[in-house]
Amino acid sequence: MTTGVAVLGSTGSIGCSALQVLARQRERFRVVALTAHSNAGLLEQQAAEWRPEYVGIVNGGSTNGGTGDGGRGKGTACLVEAATRPDVAIVINGIVGAAGLEATLAALCAGKRVALANKESLVMAGELVTQAARQGGGEIVPVDSEHSAVLQCLAGRPPTDVASLTLTASGGPFRTWTPERVADATIEEALQHPTWRMGRKITVDSATLVNKALEVIEAHYLFGVDYEQVKVVVHPQSLVHAFVEFVDGSVLAQVGFPTMEVPILYALTHPERVRDHGTRRFDPVAAETLTFEPVRHELYPAYRLGRAAALARGTVPAAFNAANEVAVQRFLDGKIRFGQIAHIIDAVLTATQSGDAESLDGVLAADAEARRMAWEVACS
Ligand code: NAD
Ligand code: MG
Repeated sequence: MTTGVAVLGSTGSIGCSALQVLARQRERFRVVALTAHSNAGLLEQQAAEWRPEYVGIVNGGSTNGGTGDGGRGKGTACLVEAATRPDVAIVINGIVGAAGLEATLAALCAGKRVALANKESLVMAGELVTQAARQGGGEIVPVDSEHSAVLQCLAGRPPTDVASLTLTASGGPFRTWTPERVADATIEEALQHPTWRMGRKITVDSATLVNKALEVIEAHYLFGVDYEQVKVVVHPQSLVHAFVEFVDGSVLAQVGFPTMEVPILYALTHPERVRDHGTRRFDPVAAETLTFEPVRHELYPAYRLGRAAALARGTVPAAFNAANEVAVQRFLDGKIRFGQIAHIIDAVLTATQSGDAESLDGVLAADAEARRMAWEVACS
């Protein structure tokens, strides 16, 4: 008996890595559903290879010509359709941005395991997402490498055993730059990540360190630890993914050459481990030197804004996320300077009133309002 998997965002960086992993594990898992935003060409190729029961495209694509049982979906509804199918046990959510939230909630309500790469779900609506898991019987297992590392180090110990978590950050391409030079960095420079190959949005988030602020919030909800217990250290080699310090002073870390295939496979099999030879094995001699540095806050103003938004709670993290998504899009469209990303987020958060994050309507309203304000600031 194989386990049915839905891959949401199958044409993206996470989605393609997930299919690589699944291709080596065909005796355990079968791909039941694939969804993508608009890359119909790649989605069709994947559908032809995997013959899933369901194929969904949010924007465009043809409605005819079936695969498997012929299930085809279009528009945003296809995400929830794919995520809640009875033949799906695990949903890999590799959608980028706020667009991933609804599918995360629906999958958890339907009792699925969500292998969650879409950290924006937890940042926007951490309370709702964890509540959906509790009430629906679903389970969130992180795909994010730092959180997978924490999960593996925790090995089932409760939050009361944990003194602190330390997430590592590469520091991005501007780690050694001056703040003045960073403010004028080009799109090409921002997309030169030193250690990971990822989608454009998360790559820019790594350059601003917003990604790490999102991950601090993600860790808070995944592991039930206070924000003061979640630390960040810059580790340019990206070999140690996280440290967990326990109350007795003992510290565990998880290491490996940077690849998302290891955390993706672990999210599918947790708490079990299965044999896999698809990725380069860790070798401390080949790894050479491991270095650690404090975060240079003057280089990453948006990181501080994200941590403050986390502490403000309510709908402020959702507003932070939305403002960042708009700012990053404007930067990638060549409309604003790199330094303006933090300015836009700052302006939006300054004007934001915290609202009730216990209803989806409240979260979506905060998201929409922050986007509106961010556009206004970005275009002024
Ligand atoms: P990507 O841009 O490469 O891929 C995004 C995928 O989402 C694509 O398949 C795209 O079709 C789909 N998508 C985009 N907009 C959509 C929308 N509005 N509705 C439905 N689908 C949509 O991004 P990625 O790098 O794979 O990142 C995906 C998520 O995983 C992000 O939340 C990111 O933070 C997280 N993540 C990525 C990595 C990585 O190594 N790439 C590591 C950790 C976490
Ligand atoms: Mg990460």
